[in-house]
Amino acid sequence: MTFINKWLRSDIQKIKAYHVPKSENMIKIDAMESPFPVPKDLMGSYLTYLSEAALNRYPSPGAEEVQQTLRSLMDIPNELGVLLGNGSDELIQLMALACENGDTVLSFEPSFVMYEMIAKFTQLNYQGVLLDDNYEINLDSTLNKIKRTQPKLIFIAYPNNPTGNAFDRESIHTIIKESEALVVVDEAYYAYSEDSFLNEVANYPNLVLLRTISKVGFAGLRLGLLIGSQDTISELDKLRLPYNINSLTQVSANFLLKEKEHIVANADIIINERQRLYEELTTISSLKVFPSQANFLLIKVDNAKSLFEFLKDNGILVKSFAMNPQLSNCIRVTVGNPSENNEFLGQIKSYYG
Ligand SMILES: *Cc1c(COP(=O)(O)O)cnc(C)c1O
Repeated sequence: MTFINKWLRSDIQKIKAYHVPKSENMIKIDAMESPFPVPKDLMGSYLTYLSEAALNRYPSPGAEEVQQTLRSLMDIPNELGVLLGNGSDELIQLMALACENGDTVLSFEPSFVMYEMIAKFTQLNYQGVLLDDNYEINLDSTLNKIKRTQPKLIFIAYPNNPTGNAFDRESIHTIIKESEALVVVDEAYYAYSEDSFLNEVANYPNLVLLRTISKVGFAGLRLGLLIGSQDTISELDKLRLPYNINSLTQVSANFLLKEKEHIVANADIIINERQRLYEELTTISSLKVFPSQANFLLIKVDNAKSLFEFLKDNGILVKSFAMNPQLSNCIRVTVGNPSENNEFLGQIKSYYG
């Protein structure tokens, strides 16, 4: 037995590490990244702006300017509080840390895997309520589970990852009203969705919203935000590590996120491409394509493992859920730029040709 095996919590030894596959020189449409890099015509002034960052100093602890930038990018009302995280993953962890030993975290299956992983890391109980065959919330079984397990935290990805749909809005209202949990509506895909709970945060003391810039062009910056009442945010802020948003991220966000029109225009391209992909893929009878409010499509195929390998051999990386019973033979494809999407469609058509 090695030192670390003797030393480490046994539940952590059993966890399978989060796997990120190799993607060099591939069309990378597996992780919901934006295909659009920083525009070339901004690069010069961006680099000048970056060069003024005082890297010998700690970053601004509250990152107030970044907060303002995000408030105007996302039209966040002034009366709400904002807490910044090193990615929204860090904020999920922060809320888990705020729970008592033995508390329960509830979410849905299938949904974003980090809810369960972080619950396990922080030694909380995790309860996953199964979604129905259309990946919609089953309200009765959800309310029953809430009654029985009294969760402290409920995560609702809206739209949901990896299924792409936005759950029934009324069901979410009922869950917020009927539970005493802090309900986290995770709007990682807000830019691609027709709907939001932003205007509801002021109406419910137990509702907070999670957002991120990862899916709108800035996954590399690692910047997420939690939006809630001023009270909730200032209490949770005690758990944030000092200087969690580094100087390069702060400076970059302040420069790049001011280009709101550009960000919105890119999101519009993705929404149009999503529609085009959806329509083209539905003409292939071996595929079932699920409707999406996000920058990806979930597709049920005849043999996900074999299609995944075929695409990989042809330089295209998608996400395969071959092994997951609720997503059996499903792949998840991020909407890329038009030429990436054409390449993907071409390969799919040759596979089913
Ligand atoms: C991608 C994703 C996140 C993670 O966002 P980061 O800000 O990159 O940590 C959170 N929630 C959902 C539902 C996601 O799909």
